[in-house]
Amino acid sequence: MSQRNERKPLSKTEWQQRAQSISFPQLAVIDGKSVPSVSGKRFDTISPLNGKVLTSIAECDAADAEIAVHVARRRFDEGVWSRQSPAQRKKVLVRLAELMLAHREELALLETLDMGKPISDSLNVDVRSSANCVRWFGELVDKVYDQVSPTGEDAIGLTTREPVGVVACIVPWNFPLLMTSWKIAPALAAGNSVILKPSEKSPMTALKLTSLALEAGIPPGVFNVLPGYGHTVGKALALHMDVDCIAFTGSTAIGKQILQMAGQSNMKRAWLECGGKSPHLVFADAPDLDAAAEAAAYAIFYNQGEMCSAGSRLLVEKKIAKEFQQEVLRKAKHWQPGDPLDPETKVGAIVDDKQMKTVLDYIEQGKQECELVFGGNQIFQETGGYFIEPTVFSNVRSDHVIAREEIFGPVLAVQTFETDEQAIRIANDTPYGLAAALWTRDITRAHRTARALRAGSVWINCYDGGDITTPFGGYKQSGNGRDKSIHALDKYTELKATWIQL
Ligand code: NAD
Repeated sequence: MSQRNERKPLSKTEWQQRAQSISFPQLAVIDGKSVPSVSGKRFDTISPLNGKVLTSIAECDAADAEIAVHVARRRFDEGVWSRQSPAQRKKVLVRLAELMLAHREELALLETLDMGKPISDSLNVDVRSSANCVRWFGELVDKVYDQVSPTGEDAIGLTTREPVGVVACIVPWNFPLLMTSWKIAPALAAGNSVILKPSEKSPMTALKLTSLALEAGIPPGVFNVLPGYGHTVGKALALHMDVDCIAFTGSTAIGKQILQMAGQSNMKRAWLECGGKSPHLVFADAPDLDAAAEAAAYAIFYNQGEMCSAGSRLLVEKKIAKEFQQEVLRKAKHWQPGDPLDPETKVGAIVDDKQMKTVLDYIEQGKQECELVFGGNQIFQETGGYFIEPTVFSNVRSDHVIAREEIFGPVLAVQTFETDEQAIRIANDTPYGLAAALWTRDITRAHRTARALRAGSVWINCYDGGDITTPFGGYKQSGNGRDKSIHALDKYTELKATWIQL
């Protein structure tokens, strides 16, 4: 598929036709070659659009990890990438970003068929943001200076950044290409060799990306992709004695295991981007209550609610709670699922049967604890796919399960507060600390509340604000380290102090 000169957006029928003829990547990529797994095993990838098998993919395990780590180390030591000048690495990464855009329709279609998000989002958000991320880190890397320490006359102290070596990246399925890009772009820009393990639920775009990376000029063996399960190939990478750094995005439960495995093995650097249960605070003096209601719906229903930073707890000041909730319900009506291949669709399918059941179980639990005021059902069963209505619960308390646990689906819990202190207490009453948002026109309240919220990102009078220049990551059990922005380089570089006695 060549898309470079394509201008006119494709119709639903055209996307459906392309879905019939697209070829799916099926093999692992090690040392620049597409290879079956050592065991010869394969696993099926199921499309959430209709529950049907798309294709079967090489199922890597510890044996494949062993080969990939060996190759990645060899390439690192040879310096084919690690010792290229930053300007040369920039050129290659910028070329990769261009290739991603040139293949945007293919990447978007693979993403939608594999994990169920609407094609317009795959095309206009995921692929574009991913290409932008790769380009940004490419362009960054020849503009970062090292430091000279303020020594006396008899010495020179240098503080220089070096790549850490072999970096293993393990990513989830909710933004497969974007999470891949957030990891590999800074890791490659810094000169590391990378092994990526995509989620077993969404391996397609990462595999396609490796062929584009080779075409762009990333040397064979510098960017390897091992599809397979977490408990086999993921675990092997986390435990491997020759992996220098593991960069993980996924659930808090698995993040804790990654930390343990890093400790059990070689004390590799372990960077974790984990779950969230983000509070969204609406004070009565919000500058625009209609925009706040719009944002409240977006915050939980966008991407089927499968967002680490979803605003899953809506905290509304009591004196406006009733009217505000009505407004949110009106907005929720616009977040009904549709056919993911229809460019008009805003909400697609839940990634798989298992995740759909998890979300429906939480909805059942919510019905026992509080009041279901909107949605709550699986729909479009006739398609064989996995679709859930936007769902809202009211009269939720902080000790209710749906207010405590990350559901990772389109389920909103509405709570109320009466004072600023109470709002902050409820907001921080969670093991997570990924993001938070608040709406107020009072600048003092805005700053005080933002400071008091224990979260890596705080959005004021908007939700999910920011771009590639802003760091993203969590406090508390939402993780450590930061993706995006210049700070992401900290994860993939060592600081070396060199002291020269004169
Ligand atoms: P998950 O933890 O089940 O899996 C994440 C990845 O880890 C997958 O590739 C999986 O195969 C792998 N894995 C599973 N068990 C493993 C093991 N024992 N050893 C090594 N690897 C293993 O999470 P998920 O269901 O894929 O994704 C959803 C989670 O990701 C949510 O909790 C969400 O909040 C989180 N997330 C966080 C961010 C962030 O930036 N903080 C971004 C996106 C998603």
